Amino acid sequence: MIFVRSMNLSHVHCADTRGQIQKRVTPMSSLKSAPRLSFEFFPPNDIAGAFRLSDTVRALAPLDPSFVSVTYGAGGTTRTLTHDAVTTIGSRYGLNVAAHLTCVDASREETLAIAESYAAAGVTEIVALRGDPPKGQGGFCAHPQGFKDTVELIEALAGMGKFNIRVGAYPDPHPEAAGPGADVDWLKRKIDAGATSAITQFFFEPETYFRFRDACEKAGIDAPIIPGILPIERWAGVKKFATRCGARVPGWIDEAFDKATRDGREDLLSVALATELCADLIDGGVEDLHFYTMNKPALTQDIARALGVTPRVELRDVA
Ligand code: FAD
Repeated sequence: MIFVRSMNLSHVHCADTRGQIQKRVTPMSSLKSAPRLSFEFFPPNDIAGAFRLSDTVRALAPLDPSFVSVTYGAGGTTRTLTHDAVTTIGSRYGLNVAAHLTCVDASREETLAIAESYAAAGVTEIVALRGDPPKGQGGFCAHPQGFKDTVELIEALAGMGKFNIRVGAYPDPHPEAAGPGADVDWLKRKIDAGATSAITQFFFEPETYFRFRDACEKAGIDAPIIPGILPIERWAGVKKFATRCGARVPGWIDEAFDKATRDGREDLLSVALATELCADLIDGGVEDLHFYTMNKPALTQDIARALGVTPRVELRDVA
């Protein structure tokens, strides 16, 4: 389905409410079935952030996510905050919460103690990552007594026998990939070490995902690879972030956002683009979608509704 990409932006301008754009952008009859959703949150670091996270969880929980996940700040900076957010979301809303855990700035003993504390709190899902260092610290440098890479972390977590282990995957090459195919080979190593599914970095075009999925299949990876979807709140910031993490920015999207930003229609374009991306993925056999919510529920809710995912449980049943 090519709709937004070939669409003159003036069409977007005509659609002046969120409801309209959902009807225009998503010919529902072309979707195979409503996907299962999951959501990523980040831990709050102040009171306002705590309210924002709670509002986001309350807004998205009725969509009955298969799981939600909570990030671990770059450089391991949110160790306690992540733990608190994971256990609060799990106990308060009854959601299946995956805790992100990285190798950065901690010994093996410290990292495994965090994992043990999750297990003790009833958490059964971990997103195991190498992790990025804090801003300005250059590349990843393993702690002298720490895990030197993700495979070592996964092996240790798998050895505990207490977790379903998810990992990251890179449809566009990760900046540290040694060459073409390196991310596929490394993902195979992570799955062989004990991970059971992967969540991708965000990307902008469905072909990017399908090419990667095909290459993974060819390499013998049979674990699910869940596409990570980023609803774009502010294009300038997303573009910078994409460049940093290796996600290729197609020129046509850049042009579309330039115009939409000038006209104050970024949200509308964002919903249209993500809806089309998701619809194409579903048409290509994808059954699960993971949304990077940035603790803002509105765009994700709009995209979900456009994809035919409407509240399946009452808020009172989850809060
Ligand atoms: P890996 O998959 O281990 O490495 C990335 C790539 O580098 C590999 O594909 C491979 O090409 C190469 N590589 C790395 N190590 C080796 C090796 N030993 N030998 C050969 N090749 C190697 N960051 C955070 O700090 N906190 C988070 O909560 C967080 N959540 C994330 C969630 C998802 C779904 C994703 C996709 C990323 C997340 N990140 C997070 C960012 C992530 O930490 C960075 O992208 C980091 O640079 C790589 O972590 P990884 O575990 O995906 O790395």
